[in-house]
Amino acid sequence: MNLCSTRNKSLRVNFSEAVASGLASDGGLFYPIDSIDLRRVLESDPPSFQDFAFTVLSELLAGECTSEDLEAIAHEAFYFSPDMFTIHERISLLDLSTGKTAAFKDYGASFLASWMSRFQSDPVVILTATSGDTGSAVAQAFYNKRNISVVVLFPEGKISQIQERQMTTLGDNIDCLAVNGSFDDCQAMVKACFADDQLRDSIHISSANSINIGRLIPQSLYYLYARKRIEGDIRFCVPSGNFGNMVAAMFARQWGMDCDPFLAACNENDTIPSFLSSDTYAAKPSIETYATAMDVGNPSNFERFMFLCEQRSISPQKLVSAISVTDDQILETIRRYYEMYGQFVCPHTATGLYYAEQELDKGLEGHVVCVSTAHAGKFRETVHKACGHTPDLPPQLQGLEDKPTHKKNIDANIEQFKQHLRKRYG
Ligand SMILES: *Cc1c(COP(=O)(O)O)cnc(C)c1O
Repeated sequence: MNLCSTRNKSLRVNFSEAVASGLASDGGLFYPIDSIDLRRVLESDPPSFQDFAFTVLSELLAGECTSEDLEAIAHEAFYFSPDMFTIHERISLLDLSTGKTAAFKDYGASFLASWMSRFQSDPVVILTATSGDTGSAVAQAFYNKRNISVVVLFPEGKISQIQERQMTTLGDNIDCLAVNGSFDDCQAMVKACFADDQLRDSIHISSANSINIGRLIPQSLYYLYARKRIEGDIRFCVPSGNFGNMVAAMFARQWGMDCDPFLAACNENDTIPSFLSSDTYAAKPSIETYATAMDVGNPSNFERFMFLCEQRSISPQKLVSAISVTDDQILETIRRYYEMYGQFVCPHTATGLYYAEQELDKGLEGHVVCVSTAHAGKFRETVHKACGHTPDLPPQLQGLEDKPTHKKNIDANIEQFKQHLRKRYG
């Protein structure tokens, strides 16, 4: 797979290099530039998601590693698989909540962990600052992976108990630091380490953030898999924040997946819907909503989206439509799906269902596949507030209260953090 920087088409790397460096040296994002045609693969009928993932990845990543390596990675990473079920004759849910942290980010994190641990020859320390969800997906995915340690920084007292426990109950190679400060402090501490050449000479540090193309490519797999499972015209509706999941779907379409233009459901952070209606991009400070994982005012994958439109000489509006769904509409949708279908949905998924229904009411043809980005049981307070009933915790997150936790409290102090790294990993 050849990738270029979104800021310079002649800056080229292969997939392994793109995964290892995360961000291009000119500050751009890596973008897969090859023309790939998966239509033949999509016609075959493999038995499981694991085998399907292996088949598709063999096409995408040909020449990056041996077929045996790729098969082992696909089987190790995707021990969980997407589920699809029909809500009513016009809407299906693509359920991506069966992984370790019950949200779609498990797909990218799990693949990246398997890939890195297989090809990592010297010990590497992955630094992650988290406001809750990404850190837990990364920690769970890299737990016990050979030659890799994960250092997670989170703001003490500012993430939910369950998010904290998904990271701090692991131990071993997962090093959790509770920072006496904000999420921005955590991010600044990680950034300072990447800017410190002396530190980087003594410790091999890396990142696993959502900008990494190694997390995005595997997310294309579930769109392709879902497309195979349903006949006729379909349209995907994707609850979106940083726009990564949406761009992964656009890649799948570019590689031959047959579907209508996309629907992107945003929450009250309406940067993308405003851009599509005005053609002017204006980043905004993020605002807090019930769909917390989508509280993004300056979506990091916007640059990939624009580059994709430019490459294909297509206007952004021809590829995707978007709306902004309010908190009240989120609550109302959760309540309606519980009352009408007995179905608990998470606040993020609710934005997608709201949008899908609105489009169907306006006369949209065909079937809508809404991406269910997380398990409703991860957002029990909001769901209870909406419908008066509380969903069970996802099965994979039950029992965390009884496990011992490991975390170290530190101040929001860059020197103290570097000292910790040198002492433990230097
Ligand atoms: C991250 C996340 C989203 C948003 O996905 P993007 O790729 O950032 O657009 C939506 N829902 C849930 C549950 C998430 O964790």
